[in-house]
Formats: sequence, C-alpha cells, structure tokens
Amino acid sequence: IIDAQNVQKHFGTFHALRGVNLTVQPGEVVVIIGPSGSGKSTFIRTINALDAHDGGTITVDGIPLNGKGNLDAIRREVGMVFQSFNLFPHLTVLENITLAPTRVRKATRADADKRGLDLLRRVGIEEQAHKYPAQLSGGQQQRVAIARALAMDPKVMLFDEPTSALDPEMIKEVLDVMKELARTGMTMLVVTHEMGFAREVADRILFFDQGNIVEDTTPENFYQNPQHDRAKQFLSKIL
Ligand code: ATP
Ligand code: MG
Repeated sequence: IIDAQNVQKHFGTFHALRGVNLTVQPGEVVVIIGPSGSGKSTFIRTINALDAHDGGTITVDGIPLNGKGNLDAIRREVGMVFQSFNLFPHLTVLENITLAPTRVRKATRADADKRGLDLLRRVGIEEQAHKYPAQLSGGQQQRVAIARALAMDPKVMLFDEPTSALDPEMIKEVLDVMKELARTGMTMLVVTHEMGFAREVADRILFFDQGNIVEDTTPENFYQNPQHDRAKQFLSKIL
C-alpha cells in the first residue's frame, strides 16, 4: 500500500534522506527507530506530503505523490498523529474530530457527530466530547488526535513519537489504543522508542541511520541479532 523508491530529501545543502526504499503491505505494522536526526520524522512526513521529497518516487494506495494536485487525495488516505497532539484549542473535542469530515468529505453534521462519538468511544473518552483540549490530560488529548485522524477513514496511519510527550501513566492508554488499531488491520508506520510496543505489535522494525534504512527485519531478528553497528550501539543504550 506504500511504495517508496530511492526517496531523497534535502534541506538546503543538508541531505536528510539518502535513497530510502520501503514497501509496506496492507495491514502491516512497521516500527521505525533510530538516532536523533537520522531522518525518521522527515521520512514519515514525506509519506503524507507534509514535506515534499525531492528525489525518487512514493506511491500510496496507487496514488503517486508528485505534488501535482493529488495532495488532497493523499491526505485523505493517510492519517497522522504527532508527538505534540496539534489539536485546535478553540474547538471542542467533538468539533476537532468532525471538522475535516464536514469540510472535506461534506458529511452532514448529524452523521459526523454520530461517527465522532463512535470514535471517541473507541478510544475510550466519549464522556470528554464537549470539553476543550486544554481541559484534558495529555493522554486523552493524544487519543482525541488519533480519533480525529481516524475520522477521515484513512488507509494508512502515521505516528511520530506519539507517546514521547506523555507522563508514564498516560503512555499505556495511548499504546493500548494503537494496539487495538493494529489488531483491526490498520496499516501503521510508527516512530517510537517504546520497545515493548515494537516487540508485541510490529511486523517489521526499520532502523534509520544518517538518512537511510540500515535494518529492515522482524522484531525478533532485530533484538537478537542486529546487523549494523549503529543498531547494536543503539540497542545497548536503550535495553
Ligand atoms: P528525532 O529522533 O530527534 O525526532 P529524526 O530522526 O526524526 O530525529 P528528522 O527530524 O527527520 O530526524 O531530521 C533529520 C535531519 O534533518 C536533522 O539533521 C534535522 O536537523 C534536519 N531537518 C529536519 N527538518 C528540517 C527543516 N525543516 N529544515 C532544516 N533541516 C531540517
Ligand atoms: Mg523525529
């Protein structure tokens, strides 16, 4: 469902992505790890065109990402959840979720509200529907962000360190929602350092270093037998 070939990205003279190749099948859960600055965020941002790549090709569900007017189509297919939630502060929880469906998908208010409440139930915070983001805990806000992304019926969900800004007791509630989503067959790309989640849920682990994927393997293989020196070093620090 995702096919990236030789993806390149420069920021000025800095070469941030250096020929990334990745194919993801529908329903796969792929965890991305790697040192700070290795290009993890940049790569997943190119997949929903938040950052434009400047070399190589990316297609998502058969739609080529080439900046020629298919941005809307891609953003409809790909949901994204960030470390910092990025909710609209002046909208209620339910309004955050129904904004895109009513504006972009032209859903009726009643349909969007009903679906929004269903999604809030799914992430376990239906009772918060009419509060504002600032009145919620970080874990609750992140679950709203997940529900908001799901409201567009994406085929792929991207997560960039979704639990890094959370207190320990809130991390689990967000990871549980993500596990449940994985169980339903959602295709997911997840940048995270949560090794328990990676072991339990990931079909594959990608290790990024200096703008490229240097390992692409199963969690078992990765933890027991990392090939690349940088991956060995990284694991020895976090395990
Ligand atoms: P982290 O684990 O710290 O989140 P990362 O692997 O996600 O790191 P990226 O955010 O993808 O790393 O950044 C890769 C490199 O590209 C870094 O050296 C960063 O400084 C650079 N970079 C990222 N975004 C920009 C930008 N908008 N302008 C200039 N350089 C950038
Ligand atoms: Mg990052």
